[in-house]
Amino acid sequence: MLIESLFNLKEREMIYQIRCSYCGCYMGEKEAPANAFAIKMELLGLPIETHSICGQCRRFILEDIRSISIKGDDHEQR
Ligand SMILES: [Zn+2]
Repeated sequence: MLIESLFNLKEREMIYQIRCSYCGCYMGEKEAPANAFAIKMELLGLPIETHSICGQCRRFILEDIRSISIKGDDHEQR
């Protein structure tokens, strides 16, 4: 049964490619338990990706957040 084989796959650890979700740069790999999404990607022969944020984008976004909170009145634009 297809459902049973998917269930068995879930017991495995899979290799995820970590990518920055902002600039798309490659950040390495990690091992994590399989999930339905990863199994589907593997069945399709596609790389299993998970998203994180690289140091450069983190700094950029933190600065962005800080500049928004300094302005303070962005909430009243709508
Ligand atoms: Zn990045």
